[in-house]
Amino acid sequence: MNAPGVRPITLPIPYPVGHVHLYLLEGDGLALVDTGVSRRALVGALEALGRSIEEIEAVIVTHHHPDHYALAGFLEAAGAEVWMRAEEIRRGHRFWLEAERWVAEGAAAFRAHGAPEGLIEAMARATLATRARVHPPRRPRPLPEDAPFEVVGMRFRVIPTPGHAEGQAALLREDGVLLVADAALAGISPMIARWAYSNPDPLGDYFATLDRLSRLRPAAVLPGHRQGFDLAARAAELRAHHQARLEAALDALAAGPRTAWEVSRALFPNAQAEERRFALAETLAHLEHLAARGLVRRLAGPPIRYLRST
Ligand SMILES: [Zn+2]
Repeated sequence: MNAPGVRPITLPIPYPVGHVHLYLLEGDGLALVDTGVSRRALVGALEALGRSIEEIEAVIVTHHHPDHYALAGFLEAAGAEVWMRAEEIRRGHRFWLEAERWVAEGAAAFRAHGAPEGLIEAMARATLATRARVHPPRRPRPLPEDAPFEVVGMRFRVIPTPGHAEGQAALLREDGVLLVADAALAGISPMIARWAYSNPDPLGDYFATLDRLSRLRPAAVLPGHRQGFDLAARAAELRAHHQARLEAALDALAAGPRTAWEVSRALFPNAQAEERRFALAETLAHLEHLAARGLVRRLAGPPIRYLRST
C-alpha cells in the first residue's frame, strides 16, 4: 500500500468481522476517517501514536453503522467537525436519533414478512442496547458532492456508494488512494439489507455502486475491514455473488409463494439465532430487487408473500 499521510488504525469491534480499520489523515493537522465503537480503544490507539483525541480537527464518517459512526459525537465534543454525506445524515444518522421509532417500524415490517415474535423481540433489544453505546454527533456537516472535499491539506472526491448504507461515502484522494469503507471488502460480502428505514431497492443501488467502483481504477484501496484488493475484480465477484443469490431466491419460490422469512431460512440455512434478522433483511433486499425487476410479485398479507412472475 502506498498511501502517504494515511495511517491505518485497526480497532476491535464486537461483531463477527472482529475489527474495523480507521484511517488517520496526517496532513496540515489531523483528521480521522470513521470512529470504531470503543472510546478506550480509540484513545489508546491514538496515544500509542503520540496523538490525542483533541488534535483531531475533522472526522469523516463513511456511514452510520456503529463500527464507523458510534464515537462521532464523542469526537465532536472533543472539538472535531463531523462530516457525512447529506443522504446519510438524512437517513442513517436520523435512525440513531429516532431509534425507538425505527425499532417499532422495523418490528411491524418484520412481523408483516412472517418473522417469529422471538426474533422481533431480539432485534428490538439488540438495537436499543447498541443505541445506548452510540454517540450521535449534534452538528454533522454534509460532505460536498459537486466540489472537492479538502481536509488537513488533502483533496478528495466524495464518491457515493449506496447499497450497504444508503448514504455511504468513499473518498478518492487526488493521487488515486481510495478509502472505500464497506462498499467492497475482501473475502466477505458487505451486507446489503432492506430495513424499515432503507431505500426501496438497496440491491439495485448496490449494483450501480459496483459499476461506479469498477470504473475508478484507484492506485490503492483502503477498506473498512480486512485487506485491500483489486477493485474491478472484486466488484465483478460481488456482482456474481448477488446474481447467484437472486437465482437462489427464485429457486426458493419455485414451489409457490413464500414469505421473506421462509425464503431467508432457505437462503441462510446455517445462520445462528443472532444472525437471523440480518439474514431476513438481506433476503428482503434480494426479493425487493426481484420485484423491482418484475421477476416476482408481492402478495399483500399479512403475511406478505412473494410469488414468481414466470
Ligand atoms: Zn463496517
